[in-house]
Amino acid sequence: LSTRASTVLQSLGLPTSGELAGVYDGQWKGSGEVMESRCPATGEVLANVRTASPQELHETIEKSRAAYRQFRNVPAPRRGEILRQIREELAAKRDNLGALVSLEMGKIKTEGVGEVQEFVDICDYAVGLSRMMNGRVVASERPGHVIYEVPNPLGVVGVLSAFNFPVAVYGWNLALSLAAGNATVWKPSPTTPLCSIAVSKIIAGVLERNNIPGAVASLVTGDKETGKDLVKSRDVELVSFTGSEAVGRNVGEKVASRFGKVILELGGNNASIVMPDADLSLAIPAVFFGAVGTAGQRCTSTRRLYLHRKVAPEVLERLQKLYKSVIPGDPLAADTLLGPLHTRSAIKTYLTAVDYLRSSGAEILTGGSKYSEEALAPGNFVQPTIAIPKSPEPKDRIWSTETFAPVLNVAIFDELEQAIEWNNNVPQGLSSSLWTRDLRHLGKWMGPSGSDAGIVNVNVGTSGAEIGAAFGGNKSTGWGRESGGDSWKQYVRWSACTVNYSDAAPLAQGVNFAA
Ligand code: NAD
Repeated sequence: LSTRASTVLQSLGLPTSGELAGVYDGQWKGSGEVMESRCPATGEVLANVRTASPQELHETIEKSRAAYRQFRNVPAPRRGEILRQIREELAAKRDNLGALVSLEMGKIKTEGVGEVQEFVDICDYAVGLSRMMNGRVVASERPGHVIYEVPNPLGVVGVLSAFNFPVAVYGWNLALSLAAGNATVWKPSPTTPLCSIAVSKIIAGVLERNNIPGAVASLVTGDKETGKDLVKSRDVELVSFTGSEAVGRNVGEKVASRFGKVILELGGNNASIVMPDADLSLAIPAVFFGAVGTAGQRCTSTRRLYLHRKVAPEVLERLQKLYKSVIPGDPLAADTLLGPLHTRSAIKTYLTAVDYLRSSGAEILTGGSKYSEEALAPGNFVQPTIAIPKSPEPKDRIWSTETFAPVLNVAIFDELEQAIEWNNNVPQGLSSSLWTRDLRHLGKWMGPSGSDAGIVNVNVGTSGAEIGAAFGGNKSTGWGRESGGDSWKQYVRWSACTVNYSDAAPLAQGVNFAA
């Protein structure tokens, strides 16, 4: 292993040779196939991980179910205290864990560390939540009766996560699920097993110290077959899935067919709209970050840019200057702005998209190919691209599909209504952003005829959400909500409990059934 990689792994107590156990259910094991973790910047194999065999997955779910039966009786504020300890451990290892995210996923260090911070934040949130997961007292129509709406722990929560947020997505789910008194079984992306092992080790340490069964936070590394088996299991009450629309559709159908609960956080295809009265000194850097940050591999990445005719030339000129300043390279180096794509196959996806743009008559303003520098050749580096497709018609696949790479498509409009229509006329509905100083535009954008996305920002880019609000998208993004807001309510089972404390037993609606 290179010194660069060994340093990161050692800082987290991960071995630098041999095979790693990729399953945790109170004990570390793994007898399934060996999976490689590969650094997308250098191509170096970082580790070989023993994944879960089908039998081990089955056993892990059983152990998690047993752990849930115990954990559900731990008082919620006490569960919050465990989360507080997890939060402390994560915060202490924030830099090292952030570096591991960069090493294995490929995002730059500040974003890797930011992702760990997101886990810390959601733990803080869930610690508070553990004293506030309140039910309701409802007025009964019957004398001497009262109705309680009661939240109780739900059971086993299966978390299936995508490669691009190998730490934070699990964090959102684990924190709420644990506060709610559930056990989780995590099936991470097959290409980021090290991040999941490092995080699970931290959590396992805290659980063990508190005499809580480790299977409260189980881990099963594996490929899509492991994912399929987890989704199918009737012993998993809630499946929280983050990934592509294609897989999400399948997962949604499978879970619905067994009447399970599901949260779907799927692909985005997010637009920024720039009005003539926008403060361009804010809008341009935000579009730049939204489109180029994480090499265009965020679900909230800016993929579509709608510019008012009056500002289009200036925005495009300034944006191209910023694109030219991008330094691609080692995501762990302090001055790098652009890391690699996560996999070799993503390069192909990028090149196919650019080819299609060219063949359909688009103008490529900047980018449009792989980097040719020899030093970058072992990694998956592609040039961030700005294109003006021939037609702004949202039905064309250029506009209607999510290409998970740094490609920004631009169209020019004259009226806000037109831009909003373009914004809405795609299958996905995750994030959207309007740049304006005019209150009337804002009202329109946030109102009934405005953006139909789950995230509707004003003078804030499409990516970089905070944990306080419920996060998620509408339409083919899956309608799921995670993190803040009322998201926690999905991780519990609700009961309406009517209690009669009177000496009579009247029926509701005045129904008379006396013999
Ligand atoms: P993916 O759909 O390929 O994989 C996601 C997970 O599903 C992985 O763990 C994978 O092993 C598993 N899986 C694959 N096939 C499965 C099946 N048939 N049954 C069960 N599990 C299966 O997604 P990806 O390439 O890892 O991630 C990128 C996608 O995720 C993008 O579309 C991105 O927009 C989306 N994403 C969405 C959000 C959000 O919050 N909306 C957040 C992050 C990423």
